[in-house]
Amino acid sequence: MNIESTIGEIRNELPERVRLVAVSKFHPNEMIMEAYRAGQRIFGENHVQEVTRKYETLPKDIEWHFIGHLQTNKVKYIVPFVSLIHGVDTFKLLKEIDKQAAKCDRIVACLLQIRIAKEETKFGFSFDECRELLEHGEWNLMKHVDLRGMMGMATYTDDKVEIRNEFHSLKTFFDEIKGTYFRDDDRFKEISMGMTHDYPLAIQEGSTLVRIGTKIFGERIYH
Ligand SMILES: *Cc1c(COP(=O)(O)O)cnc(C)c1O
Repeated sequence: MNIESTIGEIRNELPERVRLVAVSKFHPNEMIMEAYRAGQRIFGENHVQEVTRKYETLPKDIEWHFIGHLQTNKVKYIVPFVSLIHGVDTFKLLKEIDKQAAKCDRIVACLLQIRIAKEETKFGFSFDECRELLEHGEWNLMKHVDLRGMMGMATYTDDKVEIRNEFHSLKTFFDEIKGTYFRDDDRFKEISMGMTHDYPLAIQEGSTLVRIGTKIFGERIYH
């Protein structure tokens, strides 16, 4: 397996509107640098300590995307450098990002995580919870967060029809919310969906950001 050629292969599959987030969690700096030398600049991580350490030791033109569940009390550690937070799943978290970003004079781009999987998952807004959040309007007063779109994860299954339906439901919901609250906001345009086993379907259903780890870097070794 070769990181450089896999990245090239994936890039050739992506339509122009889709960007690749190389999910490097649990993988060492040397592997990230191999992807970097292949031209990759967006990397996704889901642990605060790990992404902070990597940010400090790797080239500064890397865009770090935080893709996992983010605890409110850890927001302050990543807000100074993170480029996009994919998994905003509560109003409280959004408020904390706004507060911490204000302290370091940044505007942090965020995606609202939406629960689309049939399986029980803990994280993400339901469609109704998300509508309520946006209807409430307080988010609109936050000067240090910038809502750029939505993120979702499909059920982990081999049932392609199910996966496609779930991605389709996220795209449909995105279109509804875009039309209602962000019609004049060109930056609200991201739909982060698709991982190693389902990204071709996600692209067909309108993804703009695919988060691919295993296919590029191989299996993760957890310790
Ligand atoms: C780990 C992870 C990925 C990448 O998954 P792969 O199957 O390795 O491509 C994508 N998104 C999120 C939220 C993840 O935690």
